[in-house]
Amino acid sequence: MALVLTHATVATVDGQDRVLHDHDIRIAGDSITAMGAGGTLAEPGDTVIDCADGLVMPGFVNTHTHATLGLFRGLADDKPRAFWPEGGYRVDGQDRFTRADYERSLSEACSEFLLNGVTTIADRVADMDLFAPIIEASGLRASVGSTLVDVSGPANWGPTERLIERYGTDPARSRLTAGIAPHALDTCSDALLKECATRARHIGARIYLHVAQCEAEVAAVRRRGHAGALACLRCAGLTGPDVIAAHAIYLDESEHEGWCADGTAICHCPASNLKIEARTIPLARFVDRVPVGLGTDWTASNNSMDMFWEMRLAALVAKMKADDPEVLPAKRMLRLATIDGARVMGIDHITGSVEVGKRADLVVLDLTQREMQPLHDPVSNIVYSATPRSVRDVLVDGAIRVRNGRLTAA
Ligand SMILES: [Zn+2]
Repeated sequence: MALVLTHATVATVDGQDRVLHDHDIRIAGDSITAMGAGGTLAEPGDTVIDCADGLVMPGFVNTHTHATLGLFRGLADDKPRAFWPEGGYRVDGQDRFTRADYERSLSEACSEFLLNGVTTIADRVADMDLFAPIIEASGLRASVGSTLVDVSGPANWGPTERLIERYGTDPARSRLTAGIAPHALDTCSDALLKECATRARHIGARIYLHVAQCEAEVAAVRRRGHAGALACLRCAGLTGPDVIAAHAIYLDESEHEGWCADGTAICHCPASNLKIEARTIPLARFVDRVPVGLGTDWTASNNSMDMFWEMRLAALVAKMKADDPEVLPAKRMLRLATIDGARVMGIDHITGSVEVGKRADLVVLDLTQREMQPLHDPVSNIVYSATPRSVRDVLVDGAIRVRNGRLTAA
């Protein structure tokens, strides 16, 4: 028995960015097994979902989240830049949060992601081994990392080792995979950063870290004798596409070419960067030169967990920054929010597009919503007009997690 989405418009985000009309998508188990003309793929016994009023797209890949901190929304708005590094990126009241509070926060955030059309996240927090099972139970696909720091004592590798043991690093074998997650260049010593590089390469893990997210971080790196964030990363061996640097907003102009030569991946979090640092990267300078994905970051710094908004903001601010309204057109931005995010995470052979052989990580947008009409250009509507309200159904690994705008019991 299979699941068939029938008579759909499909924004495939495949190699040609094809948009298909009146199409069927057949899903057996966790994967897309066939695509063809509308009304041709359903067989007796199949579950059929009518998508005549649906626009199917790949689920969003959110490459930088802190879902356990989801309940801090609205607690730290409009603060001076120094508030964040001086306070250790914590908000008032966080010390009183119990493990149960963090679990509740994580569970709520995972639900919100799914309802917003996100099917994959890269998430990190301290002691992630305690929390990852909640992400697993939500149905999301995820790379999970336990934050490593050594400013006030040796790094605690226990949670990371337990994540690796439980989930491994092969995305084809496990919906959750373990990453290595040093916190940032100022909260990790050069020795710890080097150890992260060595351990990650030994087991084939991705390395997730914050890079150049505030001036204080870059100043600390300079005090250690590095010319800047790029030199610090190079010293530690943390360069290349298996390293995912969140933010990178305090790179010097003179570091941009070197960064692109290294090919280190960037996770761009425009809302968070603009809200807490009033700053952004010149996105158009990096796209198509290094892997780039989009991330919402956390609720205290964004505060939305909405990838439609993130994608649109990234596009519009990039145009302003480049002084050119032609850069990063809608098709390119949809790739950034889906297949490129998957590439950043090393899972683009698994997810990120609607193609036969890929996992069925799909979103069906509701074309009866006003913001989705008229449908002159489906991709344009997704990038410039859609909102989480437009999300009708969400599937991850072929399992229906959202149906008619509500979470299922699946
Ligand atoms: Zn972060």
